Formats: sequence, structure tokens, C-alpha cells
Amino acid sequence: MSSPGSGLERIETIAVIGAGTMGHGIAQVAAAAGFKVLLNDVDRESLARGVSAIERNLARGIQLAKLTEDDRDRTLQQLHGTTSLDECAKADLIIEAAPEKLDLKKEVLRQLESASDHPFIFASNTSSLSITEIASASKRPDAVIGMHFFNPVHIMRLVEIVVGEKTSPETVSAVKGAGQKMRKEPIVVKDVPGFASSRLGVALGLEAMRMFEQGVASVQDIDTAMELGYNHPMGPLKLTDLVGLDVRLNIAEYLHRELGSEAFRPPEVLRRMVSEGKLGKKTGQGFYDWSKEDARRAQSS
Ligand code: NAD
Repeated sequence: MSSPGSGLERIETIAVIGAGTMGHGIAQVAAAAGFKVLLNDVDRESLARGVSAIERNLARGIQLAKLTEDDRDRTLQQLHGTTSLDECAKADLIIEAAPEKLDLKKEVLRQLESASDHPFIFASNTSSLSITEIASASKRPDAVIGMHFFNPVHIMRLVEIVVGEKTSPETVSAVKGAGQKMRKEPIVVKDVPGFASSRLGVALGLEAMRMFEQGVASVQDIDTAMELGYNHPMGPLKLTDLVGLDVRLNIAEYLHRELGSEAFRPPEVLRRMVSEGKLGKKTGQGFYDWSKEDARRAQSS
């Protein structure tokens, strides 16, 4: 079957499925880029929270003089919330940001295809699942692709375009164009575990943990090596604290299993800290002591 949307010009309406952390951010940048945007969630309250989060982001943009009131109004005019999945099936590009469960993503795709014959492109924002596997649920796997945004979406500039086994070049080019229009920098990556960003980022984080374990340097000095020596905005151990040590452990186990490389074997220190409940910033303790950080913040606010 021929591919839909042979170019960006075919994409006028974007539907975003899931209005959570990622979905609301994607809807915001898509609306700001001038696309008509439908933001969808199964849960009415989550949808309302997503729309409020967009309004807050835009208000903050105005406060920081990065946006005008006109920009905010134009963005909000492009945006419509809906709990109807059927309505979304008429969009030209559907970006799925529902929870990270393979069966759920496949089911959403099946439901969309059965709701309409409109030849939409389906882009999943999955951070780890196989695009080829998701596309196996589709009647048009050539129009299924990965569009991996980063959190917070309105600030982070990267979008990883993940090309499944059957994804057509037309789909790649249309989605790349849409990403650029959303003011993101697209990179095109094969559908392999960890894509490009997680594979590199996790490898660096795990090596930093091994160095700490071996007493090569302190947590702070390992981070400073990357911050000052390589101009990383944040060292790998601090970043691990922000992402969550449990999240990192899960990804490391998955990459170790899938890629079979020792570089991804989770270090002992990571396993131990997770079992002790030291999960990073969210629990107040990780490689850094965040409870003091919170106290400092509370004092200064
Ligand atoms: P989230 O839990 O914040 O949001 C998911 C939303 O989807 C919820 O509001 C939920 O009500 C809704 N939902 C559940 N089932 C649905 C359905 N059938 N139809 C429509 N909506 C449904 O999750 P998130 O952090 O935004 O993650 C979404 C996706 O993005 C996941 O695949 C995740 O791996 C990926 N991702 C997350 C991050 C991150 O930093 N959070 C970064 C990159 C990619």
C-alpha cells in the first residue's frame, strides 16, 4: 500500500494520545508551530491537568519574556482537548505518548485504524519499545515510526526519529519535517534497543558508577570531569539522580539483556542503592543528598 503523507505539506493536524508528562509538552510545541492539535487522554482529569500544564508553561514563557501574549493566544487557539480516540483518527500525524506498555500502544494503534480510513502517520514517543514490534499491529506499517522527544519537551531540543523495519522513507521525511517545524533537531536512528540517546547516556552513567565504586574519584569530581572537561551541562551521576536510580537500573538490565554488552551490566553500587530505596532526587538520597538541597530551596523561596 502506498504511504500516506509523502511530505510535511500533508501534515496539518496532529493528534497527541496521552496528556501526561510528555503528551502535553508535545501538544504544546506542535500547537506553537502552527499545527492544529488534538490532545487526547482516556482520563478526563489527566486531560485537564495536561491543558493546565501547557497554560502554565506558556505563562512562564511570558514572564521570562520568551513569549508574547499573542504567541500564547495563537498556541492555545490551535489546541483542542478530547477524550475521543475516534476524533484523533482523522489527524494526519498521530503522536502516541501513552504509558510505556507494548500491548497498550498496539491496541491504541489498532483502534485508531479501525476508527477511520484516513491515512495518518503513527509516531510513538516510546523511550525503549521496538517500533517494528508496535508496527506489527498496523495494516500500514510503512506509516509507523518513532518520534522520541525529551523531557521537558518545550525546552529540550532533540527528537530521535526511530525507523522501524518497514517504515517508508516518505514517513521518515514527513516526520523529520514536522519535528523541525516544532523547532526540534531531529536525528534519524535505526530501531535498536536504547536507540542512540539512551544507549550512549546510560553507558556513560554506568561507567561513572563503576569509577565511583572503584574509588577512582569522588561523586562530585567524576561529575566535574564531564561538566568542565567535556562541557556537559550536568555530570552523569547527578543526571542519574534526576532520572531515578530505579529507572536507570531497569534500562541497564534491558540493554544488557538485549545488546549482550558488558558495558550495560548494572554495577553493584546501583543495585545496592536501589534496594536501599536510594532512588535519587525523588527520595531525597541518591549519589547526592537532595534533602539538603530541598531545605536550601525552601529557605531561599
Ligand atoms: P505519563 O504517565 O505522564 O502520561 C501518560 C498518559 O497517558 C496519562 O495521562 C494516562 O491517563 C494516559 N493514557 C493511558 N492510557 C491511555 C489510552 N489508552 N489512550 C490515551 N491516553 C492514555 O507518561 P509519560 O511520562 O508522559 O510517558 C509517555 C510515553 O513517553 C511513554 O512511552 C514513555 O516511555 C515515553 N517517554 C517518557 C519520558 C519521560 O521523561 N517521562 C521521556 C521520553 C519518552
